[in-house]
Amino acid sequence: MDANISSFLNWSQSQLAEAGVLSPRLDSEIILAHTLKLSRTDLRTQDQRVLSESEIKNVKKFMERRLNREPISLIVGYQEFWSLDFIVDENVLTPRPETELLIETALNCISSPTFKILDLGTGSGALAVTMAKEVPECKVSAIDIDPKALSIAKENATRHGVVDQIEFVCSDLRTSDWSGCFSMILSNPPYIKSADIQKIMPEVRIYEPEKALDGGITGLDFYQAIIPMAIDRLEGNGFLILEIGHDQADEVTELLNSFSCYQNIEVIQDYSGYDRVVKAQKTNG
Ligand code: GLN
Repeated sequence: MDANISSFLNWSQSQLAEAGVLSPRLDSEIILAHTLKLSRTDLRTQDQRVLSESEIKNVKKFMERRLNREPISLIVGYQEFWSLDFIVDENVLTPRPETELLIETALNCISSPTFKILDLGTGSGALAVTMAKEVPECKVSAIDIDPKALSIAKENATRHGVVDQIEFVCSDLRTSDWSGCFSMILSNPPYIKSADIQKIMPEVRIYEPEKALDGGITGLDFYQAIIPMAIDRLEGNGFLILEIGHDQADEVTELLNSFSCYQNIEVIQDYSGYDRVVKAQKTNG
């Protein structure tokens, strides 16, 4: 195959579109740029550059993986979140753009720089690392059940220069008595109903860790564990900020309301207009 950048991209775009990939042009560009170690802008300015045999062989290997619906983040090995690059692999959930709303909400609640933050189910460490970076005086504890996920989170913390601000703890957030007293507890827990896992797109269903997605029969298992446990671990006026599925706002706020010590409960919508984050403040009594 004799190809330059422009003709290769046209070919790869149509292959990916045919396979049902949602963003075939973008993904083609990311894959080719990654193979050639160029930026996507370089692809545009060098669109007549002819690809060598070995470049074509390499890019086709990545294309093959994308055609099998492996997520682009796992193919290139990283994902941008809050303008930071996070290393990802099959042991962690790839950070999603809508989760940036959780960071935005958390940053709006910071009143003193010496905040103590707990991130439950840290995965790649996207929340813990971003908060540590944004609030340099804060201390963060990051919990995850999977030691492999924690080592990715540590790698990301090191990469972004905040490893000394974060304590990493390997434990099950539903059963462990995570101790300490925090000004803020954050979590993007698994929240998909077990029966719905089979219905989600192959990129997520086949390649992402089920334990980061499966929220049990009702999808609410982790909220039912976190909401009561957080009471004893939050300072008075401390914040609990949780990502939720787009149809879980009523159930999660009801759960929070069933404990008299949460006040100022608020549901916040993401940029697609879906309910995405629930915020509550512990009373100061
Ligand atoms: N929002 C994720 C998805 O799109 C689910 C993440 C979660 O369960 N916390 O699959």
